[in-house]
Amino acid sequence: MKNNIGTLCVQAGYTPKKGESRQMPIVQSTTFKYETSAQMGKLFDLEDEGYFYTRLQNPTNDKVAAKIAALEGGVAAMLTSSGQAANFYAIFNICEAGDHVVAAQSIYGGTFNLLGTTLKKLGIEVTFIDQNDSEANIEAAFKPNTKAMFGETISNPGVQVLDIEKFARIAHKHEVPLIVDNTFATPVNCRPFEFGADIVTHSTTKYMDGHGATVGGAIVDSGNFDWEKYGSKFHGLTEPDESYHGLVYTKKFGKLAYITKATSQLMRDLGSIQAPQNAFYLNLGLQTLHLRMPRHCENARKIAQFLHDDPRVAWINYPDLADDSQHALQQKYLPNGTCGVMAFGLKGGREFSIRFMDNLKLISIVTHVADCHSCVLHPASHTHRQMTDEQLIEAGVAPDLIRLSVGIEDAEDLINDIKQAIEAAEAGK
Ligand SMILES: *Cc1c(COP(=O)(O)O)cnc(C)c1O
Repeated sequence: MKNNIGTLCVQAGYTPKKGESRQMPIVQSTTFKYETSAQMGKLFDLEDEGYFYTRLQNPTNDKVAAKIAALEGGVAAMLTSSGQAANFYAIFNICEAGDHVVAAQSIYGGTFNLLGTTLKKLGIEVTFIDQNDSEANIEAAFKPNTKAMFGETISNPGVQVLDIEKFARIAHKHEVPLIVDNTFATPVNCRPFEFGADIVTHSTTKYMDGHGATVGGAIVDSGNFDWEKYGSKFHGLTEPDESYHGLVYTKKFGKLAYITKATSQLMRDLGSIQAPQNAFYLNLGLQTLHLRMPRHCENARKIAQFLHDDPRVAWINYPDLADDSQHALQQKYLPNGTCGVMAFGLKGGREFSIRFMDNLKLISIVTHVADCHSCVLHPASHTHRQMTDEQLIEAGVAPDLIRLSVGIEDAEDLINDIKQAIEAAEAGK
């Protein structure tokens, strides 16, 4: 029996047996006991299943990961300590020094730095492309050593909607998996695997947790990419791992190869595990995700329409608006709504926008985005401040761009707050 998304949000990942706790238990333990040293040895050889050390796996984390895998329609998932760790592991699991990645340039600033600066230091080169470019132009970025393609379902903060089918077609033509960061859409509004993505990542810090309480990340595998089909291209998965006595992940774990390697090799060696306590909070968030996302979208639509119609607003990007450049993609990939995040600029430019933000009362200035509280950020002076104006524009971030993340308060109050802040800014406050 296949359950719908709301039921999965509440119940997937954990089914208590007789006398067990109805809510998911927190297993707050670093380690796990065995009867004999031989039993423990088998775990270290990946010959047997079981927990031995929370840096690699923990029962609470695994239940929450299983829920996220169910929500995305994947075969397996792992939790990480942050969204940054999720994107790093997702790529590093199949790329090494000498390899190359093709990525959309309109992505989260942290991921842009991870790919463009830190992966480069590890010897992995990235070519950033315009996701709205023609297939032929995007294909020109591929090289013989390209191992992955990357994009965000809804880009942060430019709110561009990824043409996932186009990206999947290009990635598969060039024999590499498509990795999609689905943070803003969440599986309630879009499940990238249904459009051909192979791996999905999340910053669970955003809507999944939803309350601004915990930093976390997740990687989900669709199980669809055939790693063995392309010879030694993905040799980390298809050839012996000497750190596990010559085990071959694809041979031993089949469709679970990618996530098993990420847990047993990357998590073992790099150790960005999510704390079980945080996984518990994340699960509380997931239990209402299907209720919160429609409310975020409903509020955001009202506010976007207000901004769209106000003569003091210079421009607004919100894909759900009928005349938005991303509207056709929104209709195709996120027909129930994108999310609560939009970007806009005020007439009066950068300085006026900053004054407007300083006058907001309910909507707070925070680095965060995509939780139940409404908030604003000016990327050019905050998250993206290390970028040049040229890089900002390439990344789809205008210097006057205000990122507004609409929460689940009452829309009328939020609109009134925006009105009074524009008026105060106009009065020179
Ligand atoms: C926030 C964010 C990240 C990074 O996640 P953290 O949990 O802050 O490490 C990655 N991708 C997107 C789209 C994000 O919004």
